[in-house]
Amino acid sequence: MPRPPQYRLQSVLDRAAEGGRITPEEALDLYRDAPLHALGAAADAVRRRLYAGTEHIATYIIERNINYTNVCVTACKFCAFYAAPKDKANGWTRDLDDILRRCAETVELGGTQIMFQGGHHPDYGVEYYEKHFAAIKAAYPQLVIHSLGASEVEHMARISKVTVEEAITRIHAAGLDSFAGAGAELLPARPRKAIAPLKESGERWLEIMEIAHGLGVESTSTMLMGTGETNAERIEHLRMIRDVQDRTGGFRAFIPYTYQPENNHLKGQTQATQFEYLRMIAIARLFLDNVRHIQGSWLTTGKEIGQLSLHYGADDLGSIMLEENVVSSAGAKHRSNLLELIQLIRSAGRVPAQRVTTYEHVVVHDDPANDPVDDRVVSHVSSTAIAGGTAHPELKLIAAT
Ligand code: SF4
Repeated sequence: MPRPPQYRLQSVLDRAAEGGRITPEEALDLYRDAPLHALGAAADAVRRRLYAGTEHIATYIIERNINYTNVCVTACKFCAFYAAPKDKANGWTRDLDDILRRCAETVELGGTQIMFQGGHHPDYGVEYYEKHFAAIKAAYPQLVIHSLGASEVEHMARISKVTVEEAITRIHAAGLDSFAGAGAELLPARPRKAIAPLKESGERWLEIMEIAHGLGVESTSTMLMGTGETNAERIEHLRMIRDVQDRTGGFRAFIPYTYQPENNHLKGQTQATQFEYLRMIAIARLFLDNVRHIQGSWLTTGKEIGQLSLHYGADDLGSIMLEENVVSSAGAKHRSNLLELIQLIRSAGRVPAQRVTTYEHVVVHDDPANDPVDDRVVSHVSSTAIAGGTAHPELKLIAAT
């Protein structure tokens, strides 16, 4: 007599928790049908084994997103950030001085990483990125440039009429340290075409990341959840990443985040639930047995769900983003500050540690008496200057929220 489905699921969970590889079909079964608490327990067991000795720690980073332009030819349907090139009233670009001032402020507030993030501007080829990365590195060599992704590489190579290999090699030489994995969205063809019809295919996105890994430029990987994709398509996205990772080992982390419903063409008709998000964190930990870091998010799902993600397989709780404009434009309203993020991690039962881009710990906050007290280290929406900052007093000051 066949065993009841719950026994079959539990035996797959047990195998995954012990480090066995699971198939995409098994992952889909678990994602759909495993009890939530059992899924989380298995994922947490994997995390604890992987981090044996430091399993009591959860990490975060201080960074700044620097949005260099919102002008974009790609018109993704989920995006609330871009302006079409002909939309002169709403399109903008930032000059290099402005970008450098934002870098100065990042350094002043203890940030270690910048995410250079913007639209596919019709005039920005490889030369634009070379110039800006070289200038940032010359002025602030301590800042890690963890930015862009395969979509930007494809675009800049097309504008400059060079191969993606040449584009990656040149921007890496100019100062890019690693790719942030932007533009992955949903990799399978059907949902990708539905939400980003002008972007390169998912296969091409992965091919470019594989080329980057081969050239010594590592990356993170991402997934945008909740734009109408099926559960099977979510698991297929993971499979596509795992297959490349088997060959390259270049994905440092997997970071799912949820679609935000405001001000975009999808008009919010679909969204991932918080339980679906937690299930994704857990299944990613179980299925992506070759990706070391799984990042939970509080920015798009809220602080409590962020805390819970640390019990569903996540080892990292993302960042204090000194500036964020992209998902905020689509409605992400959650904000935090450094002390609150530290306390969130601590009250989730972990010891907080500030990390760098490559995940080494900079400070382990093992004694609350020594917690940092700089209340300027706050996640801002559309900030142009940080209250109390001296790096660029000429920029318009936006109050912290
Ligand atoms: S997500 Fe990026 S590529 Fe797509 S429209 Fe927005 S800015 Fe352009």
